[in-house]
Amino acid sequence: MSANRRLLDRSLAAVWHPCTQMQHHLAADGLPLIPVQSGEGVWLTDFDGRRYLDGVSSWWVNLFGHRNPRINAALRDQLETLEHVILAGFTHEPVVQLSERLSALTGGALGHAFYASDGASATEIALKMSHHYWRNTGQPEKTDFLCLEGSYHGETVGALAVTDVALFKDAYAPLIRPAAVLPSPDARLARDGETAADMARRAAAALEAHLQAHHGHIAALIVEPLIQCATGMAMHDPLYLSLARQACDRYGVHLICDEIAVGFGRSGTFFAHEQANIRPDFLCLSKGITGGYLPLSVVLTTDTVYEAFLDDAVTRGFLHSHSYTGNALACRAALATLDIFEQDGVIAANRQLSERLHQLLEPLRQHPRVRHYRRRGMILAFDVEGADASFSRRFYKAGLERELMLRPIGNTVYLMPPYVLSEDEARHLCQGTLATLEATLA
Ligand SMILES: *Cc1c(COP(=O)(O)O)cnc(C)c1O
Repeated sequence: MSANRRLLDRSLAAVWHPCTQMQHHLAADGLPLIPVQSGEGVWLTDFDGRRYLDGVSSWWVNLFGHRNPRINAALRDQLETLEHVILAGFTHEPVVQLSERLSALTGGALGHAFYASDGASATEIALKMSHHYWRNTGQPEKTDFLCLEGSYHGETVGALAVTDVALFKDAYAPLIRPAAVLPSPDARLARDGETAADMARRAAAALEAHLQAHHGHIAALIVEPLIQCATGMAMHDPLYLSLARQACDRYGVHLICDEIAVGFGRSGTFFAHEQANIRPDFLCLSKGITGGYLPLSVVLTTDTVYEAFLDDAVTRGFLHSHSYTGNALACRAALATLDIFEQDGVIAANRQLSERLHQLLEPLRQHPRVRHYRRRGMILAFDVEGADASFSRRFYKAGLERELMLRPIGNTVYLMPPYVLSEDEARHLCQGTLATLEATLA
């Protein structure tokens, strides 16, 4: 029996894999499970030497390739100094430096950093902090939240309250205290003759009407700036964010930007909200923050919010804690990631790389079944007309046969690769996507 087979059999026996109907792996002609022996750059390699280009950055976390020498070196150095320490009553250099540098990246507007270990927890922290701010400032009735159609903010019970993806939510609906769901500015929903900006205005008008009627009970609106990733890379005009910011200010409601997926250069700017020239009251970050190395998330907020919690009473302080908060190794990986952004001029280089991928996708864009081709920064996506219910799984399998790992969402195929593709790798990705599409539709 091959090493591949042995490891995947043990995995199927002992590991309950995420976002997976395990039965699909157990069927003889089912979904393949890939045992990865090693990673390097954009490649994942199994025990038989078969390789796969990581076209989804291992669930949107990897920025500078697997086994990146600079992040590895930083982590080795950190291991020799301090691996972890309790962050209540203690502090350490990596967490302080990371907080300072993230604050500087928001122009000092969001100068207070609260850490957790994953994206869903960052969402929950922002929701709790927003409500607790209003409670501390004499408006305890502000307990409701707003989210957008198709929103995804994580899958814990609290985060599901502001998530609008039926597949993840419906089974757990009885456990959830749902937020109000408002129209999405998704540019694909524009009517004939409407531009993406018109669509943004229409969605913002619905927000305005809702706020006008209900603002007295609303703590915050949570949005994924520019790209709602998990619902299928739904992209919207930055105008929506400026209009939402203005409306939230007018009605005394917080704006939470969930940049867990779109932060760290993914949208083409370091933070996506920069493209609308706004700042949120809360900014949630995770995924790319450690370059895809270690679990870490953070919520950044303003002086105004922070100061509303300062008091002698413990109960007016923010009551939230995770055991691994501000883990030193994770913070060090994040610092090494920020170093690469600075040293390599990543944002400018990505602009060219995105343009090159766009060129290479020219033949695919002409394909008669491709609809709503769209691109922002390092996310390129399109919908496939007439795709059936098994399309995404069949596409995934056909991609693996072409040394390509892509995981369509329904009928949306997207490319979200690490930022370190060579010319040959970019060709492999784009030509492979077209070949995979043709094979899946054949
Ligand atoms: C992935 C994601 C989350 C949840 O992050 P986890 O680390 O998976 O809990 C939240 N919001 C957005 C926009 C995401 O893409």
